[in-house]
Amino acid sequence: MAGNETSTVDFDAVVVGAGFSGLYMLKSLRDFLGLSARVYESGTGVGGTWYWNRYPGAKSDSDSYIYCFSFDKELLQEWTWSEKYPGHKEIRAYLEHVAERHDLNRDIEFETSVASATFDEDANVWTVETDKGDSVTARFFISAVGALSSSNTPKFEGIDSFRGETYHTGHWPHEGVDFTGKRVGIIGTGASAVQAIPIIAEEADELTVFQRTANYIVPARNTPADPEETAARKADYEAIWERLRESNFGFELYLEEKGALDCSDEERERELMERWEDGGFRIWLGSYVDIFFTDEANAKVREFLHERIRETVDDPETAEKLIPKDHPFGVKRNPLDTGYYEAFNRENVSLVDVKSNPVARITESGVRLEDGSEYEFDALVYATGFDAMTGPLNKIDIRGRNGELLREKWEMGPRTYLGLMSAGYPNLFTITGPQSPSVLSNMPVSIEQHVEFITRIVRDMGERGAATIEPTREAEDAWVEENQALAEATLFTSADTWYMGANIPGKPRVFMPNLSFVGPYRKRCDTVADNDYEGFAFDGAASREGATA
Ligand code: NAP
Repeated sequence: MAGNETSTVDFDAVVVGAGFSGLYMLKSLRDFLGLSARVYESGTGVGGTWYWNRYPGAKSDSDSYIYCFSFDKELLQEWTWSEKYPGHKEIRAYLEHVAERHDLNRDIEFETSVASATFDEDANVWTVETDKGDSVTARFFISAVGALSSSNTPKFEGIDSFRGETYHTGHWPHEGVDFTGKRVGIIGTGASAVQAIPIIAEEADELTVFQRTANYIVPARNTPADPEETAARKADYEAIWERLRESNFGFELYLEEKGALDCSDEERERELMERWEDGGFRIWLGSYVDIFFTDEANAKVREFLHERIRETVDDPETAEKLIPKDHPFGVKRNPLDTGYYEAFNRENVSLVDVKSNPVARITESGVRLEDGSEYEFDALVYATGFDAMTGPLNKIDIRGRNGELLREKWEMGPRTYLGLMSAGYPNLFTITGPQSPSVLSNMPVSIEQHVEFITRIVRDMGERGAATIEPTREAEDAWVEENQALAEATLFTSADTWYMGANIPGKPRVFMPNLSFVGPYRKRCDTVADNDYEGFAFDGAASREGATA
C-alpha cells in the first residue's frame, strides 16, 4: 500500500465509471499495484459512453484498429474488428470481453452513482457516498466519468407536456426504438444527429430536422475491415502504438506543415479531394496546419466543403441552409457522416432552421417555433449533446480542503494542473479531464497515458512514503494560463462550441481541452515526474505553504 500516514480505509481507491478509463484504472490499481479498488458505475454494465449511446447509427469516429487497449497485447492479436469504424454494439462487446477476461466485474458496483466525495484533511481520506446511501472511504478518488456523459436537454418551456415518445441520443433505450410509420422530430445536428438522421429517415414516415447551427461534416466512408490490412496491422502493432503515443492526436494522421495558402488552387483542390475521398478525419487532422490559425487559409477548405454540400443536396435552398456560415472548419468537432446530406434528398425529410426562428416551446403535440409555426410529431428526439468535460464532475458534490466544492472552485472554468489534478483536492485524479488533450485525441490513447501516469504516481508515492499528492496553486495557475494561451493562438476560441462551454446557457466561456498534442503532452507528464514531480506537493506541503503565504 502506498503511503503510511492514513487511517484504515475501506479501499485504497474508489473509481467512478466503468468505460475505457475505469476498466483500465481498475486493472492497473488492482493487478499491477496490488491495491484494493471499488468502481461505481451508474449503468447495469460496462461500456461508459457506449453503454448509454445506443442511438441508431452510433459508431466511433476512430478507426477500430486503434480504438482499443494496447496494454493487453494478446487481446490485440485475438480481437478482430468487423468494420473500419466500430459500431456501439461491437465496442460494448469488446469492453464486456475485456471486463470478463480480466475479471473486473467483481470490483464494480453497477447501478450506483457517486453522489459526493469529501476529503478529510486529518485522516487524508476521501469519504465517498452513493445514491444508494452507501458510504465508503478510500485514499484515492479517481474520476473515470468521461468527457461526454452528462447529457444536455435544453430547458424548453412545456418540455414535459409532449404526449408522444421522447428520446435523448445520449441515453437511448436498450431495446431500441421502432420509428416505422411515425412522424419524428429531431432537435440538433451534431455528431450524434448526423449518425442517427439517415437511419431514422429510412424508418420514419416523416422526419423533421431542427437545425440551429449547420456543421462541417465529412464522409466516414466506412467499410468492412479488410482481412489483409487487419493482418498487416496486427503484425505491426508495436510500432503502430509507438507512433500513436508520439502523435498529435492519437491517430496515424499528421498535420502538414504546408499550409492551404502555400498551394496553388489546383494543387489544393486535388489534395482536398483526395482527403475527402479517403474519408474520416484526414481532411481535418491530417491536412494543412494553417487552417487552425488563419481564417484566410481556413476559408479555402470551407469553400471546398461548401461545394461538396451543393453538389450532394438536390434542393438549392436546403443546401444553402446546410452550409455553415458562422464558424471556421475544424474548430468544432466535425462529425463523420454516412448518407447525412443524401438524407435531405428524401421526400420524407425536411430541414427547419431554428437559429433565425428558435423553438418557442414544446407542446402536447410537438414543437412550436417563435413565429408561431407548429410541428406535430409522434416521437421527439433530443440530439442536443452534453454538458461536456466539467459537467459530469460538477454533478458530484466533491469537497476538498476546507470543504471547498470543486464546482464552486471551477465556477469561472476548470482549474487543473496537467488536466489531471486540481489544487486543494489531494489524491483526486481526473482521467482525461478538462485541460488534458482528451477530446482532441483518439480517446483510448489518451486514457492509457493518463491511467499509466496515475499508476506511476501512486507507485512512486508508495516508494517515498507519501500519503497525499496535489498540485501547487502556482503550477495550476501556470497550466490554466498556458492552456488558454495555446487556444487563443488558434481559431478554436472563435466558435460557439461545447469545447468552449458555449452550448450550455450560463456556462463560463473557456476553452476546455488542452492543445499541446498527445505526444508532447505525454513527454511533459513524464518530465514532470522525472523532475521530482515538479509542480506537485506531497503530504500537504502545498496547503501549508498556501496558509503561510
Ligand atoms: P453536440 O455536438 O453538442 O450537438 C448538439 C446539437 O443540439 C447541436 O446541433 C446544437 O446546436 C443543438 N442544440 C442544443 N441546444 C439547442 C437548442 N436549445 N435549440 C436548438 N438546437 C440545440 O452533441 P452530440 O451530437 O451529441 O455530440 C457531442 C460530441 O460527442 C461530439 O462532438 C463528439 O465529440 C461526440 N460524439 C462522437 C461520436 C463519434 O465518435 N462517432 C458520435 C456522437 C457524438 P448548436 O450547434 O447551435 O449548439
